[in-house]
Amino acid sequence: MAAAEDTAAAAEGAPPLHLFNSKTKKKELFVPRVNGKVGMYVCGVTPYDSSHVGHARAYVAFDVLYRYLNFLGYEVNYVRNFTDVDDKIIKRAEQNGEDTSSLCTRFINEFHTHMTELQCLPPTVEPRVTEHIKDIVELITEIIKNDKGYVVDGNVYFSVSSFPEYLSLSGRKQDDNLAGSRVAVDPKKRNDKDFALWKAAKEGEPSWESPWGDGRPGWHIECSAMSARYLGHVFDIHGGGKDLIFPHHENELAQSRAAYPESEVKCWMHNGFINNCGEKMSKSANNFVTIRSIMTQYHPMALRFFLVRAHYKSDMNYSDEALEIASDRVYYIYKTLHDCDETVSLYREENISVPVPAEEQKLVDGKLILFLIVVKQKLEQQKKKQQQKKQQQQQIPQNKPEDHIQALAALSAEIKSKLSILGLMPPSPLAEELEHLKEKALTRAGLTEESLREQIEQRVAARNSKQFDVSDHIRKDLASKGIALMDEPTGTVWRPCERE
Ligand SMILES: [Zn+2]
Repeated sequence: MAAAEDTAAAAEGAPPLHLFNSKTKKKELFVPRVNGKVGMYVCGVTPYDSSHVGHARAYVAFDVLYRYLNFLGYEVNYVRNFTDVDDKIIKRAEQNGEDTSSLCTRFINEFHTHMTELQCLPPTVEPRVTEHIKDIVELITEIIKNDKGYVVDGNVYFSVSSFPEYLSLSGRKQDDNLAGSRVAVDPKKRNDKDFALWKAAKEGEPSWESPWGDGRPGWHIECSAMSARYLGHVFDIHGGGKDLIFPHHENELAQSRAAYPESEVKCWMHNGFINNCGEKMSKSANNFVTIRSIMTQYHPMALRFFLVRAHYKSDMNYSDEALEIASDRVYYIYKTLHDCDETVSLYREENISVPVPAEEQKLVDGKLILFLIVVKQKLEQQKKKQQQKKQQQQQIPQNKPEDHIQALAALSAEIKSKLSILGLMPPSPLAEELEHLKEKALTRAGLTEESLREQIEQRVAARNSKQFDVSDHIRKDLASKGIALMDEPTGTVWRPCERE
């Protein structure tokens, strides 16, 4: 294994990467199949409705992995599909009185908008099922040829009993797999655990020609076909939410290997669930929170920060409070970086390209933000002193660069680079993002810039007339709505805060 350890890194000097493999249930050293290149497939959405926070979690988690692999120097072929033909799509389109393709286009567009807002980088390719029917038919043909599938009345089923490896991914026992417990058992199946590869056409449903008659693909076969099409039969990473382990990924593994026995996914990765106020989000409980509804209240980076705070594999709890905290943290980080930029810009003409001193680098590796704040405070003190001196001398001081300015600039760049790997560094100037965060805070507080300004003025007037109970009440009331007031020499300013 020592040799593998030595050759694992994609780029020279890149640290070894260990990933938890859901199949072996172990953390393993990641060794790409082809040196320097990674093939990654992540199951995408079924675009029949608005995407919810659970989708955001999965795609943010794999976006962080994608970004990190890129950072390590890998060339990543990232494939994420759209399931654009499915029972749910057909049903919803019928309810709406629209055709399935216009329904899908609408929700694919919305999904793309959300992914952009959440700063999820576009995958290399986003294949759609309806554009890969030929690949799917070929794969099913192979499965039948290998005696792992059978045709009944224009339907094709996968024969679970013909594939001894079945359930090797989920680790389930055959008895747990009670196909009949949730849906009526199809009498056409030889075994109630067999699943559909191809569904015979029904009146009014989209269908395609096949050797078994007109019909459409079953759900699972698409990912076997499209992953093979874009990544080959053996590829590095296959991801999705942990609810996909069974039956979707279990069936996918079975189909791929039944058709082509050499098929293999090197590492299966699954992210955890999001609970809503302690309860599992589910359609039946009707407690799904859509990305759209979150975006009306919060800055997209607040949602992203909330999602990346927890380990991708653990379940996490969604609540307004958690989002408020995330929003506050994002404001704090952006404000700090913005203030650093302002401070550094005062010294723009000085040479600030020197490396971070070793002692300060140690701190960077530890309490990054904390250290930045300390350095910033020191600089601000120095800046004030210098401004005083400047006023006295009425000229720009010709002093040597400040002791910490190099460190501040380098640290700020370092933090921005780390935030970029997490996808948390916004493309717009920080000042704009801070304004955006403030706008969202006002929305949550049910205030406008004008109504807040009025309250601030009322408070100033109350303080001036020594009505401190009134001024205190205004401050506390605003704090309970997530608005903090700060009295500065130039006047009262505000920033978003956690609700008190
Ligand atoms: Zn899939």
